Amino acid sequence: MSPLIIRDCPSPNHGPRKGGVAAPDLILIHYTAMQGGPNPAIKRLCDPETEVSCHYVIGESGDITRLVPDDRRAWHAGAGQWGGSDDVNSRSLGIELSNDGHSPFPAPQMDALEALLHDRMARYGIPPQGVIGHSDCAPGRKIDPGKRFDWQRLARRGLAVWPRSVPADPEAFRRHARTFGYTSSVDNETLLAAFRLRFRPGAQGPLDATDAGLAADLAHRFPA
Ligand SMILES: [Zn+2]
Repeated sequence: MSPLIIRDCPSPNHGPRKGGVAAPDLILIHYTAMQGGPNPAIKRLCDPETEVSCHYVIGESGDITRLVPDDRRAWHAGAGQWGGSDDVNSRSLGIELSNDGHSPFPAPQMDALEALLHDRMARYGIPPQGVIGHSDCAPGRKIDPGKRFDWQRLARRGLAVWPRSVPADPEAFRRHARTFGYTSSVDNETLLAAFRLRFRPGAQGPLDATDAGLAADLAHRFPA
């Protein structure tokens, strides 16, 4: 695990966590969808005009910048739903990975992300199923961190979860996905697209037994 070196670049874009949330129980992973390394994104996330921010930005070379203290509510999730909550910002830490939305995530960046996750998950008691993508809580609206992000690598290190397909009734897909955390009210097709982006990148066609089996395993082992 890389040593955790964090530089500060304070953003004015934050507020108090709402609803009596003392510490985060979710970590949202994003990509910046910008070119030219982390600095253009950091500049944007520190601009009061944009009214967006996050807690950490990780550059391609593994440099970590903190914009908002962990105890504050950063403005990264937007409208979203997870585990029955519609104020994902109050519950979460937001981590932006510098990435144009198409390129692979370099090893130093993934190493730094893992070190940061490891530290903050231990500090706040966040379980692996609490580490999710922006696309998970905003199906149909957001696709980051995208199909190139290596969720299985995080899961192997206990920093996220990865399902195995078990026998399951396709009719129960939506209920099982909901139990895991997908409580957005989007239509079935949009929900399936978000689920596959995370757990079956590249899968096409209508809902099948594999989708149903993955959702069932997640619901049974990791209910939100
Ligand atoms: Zn995002």
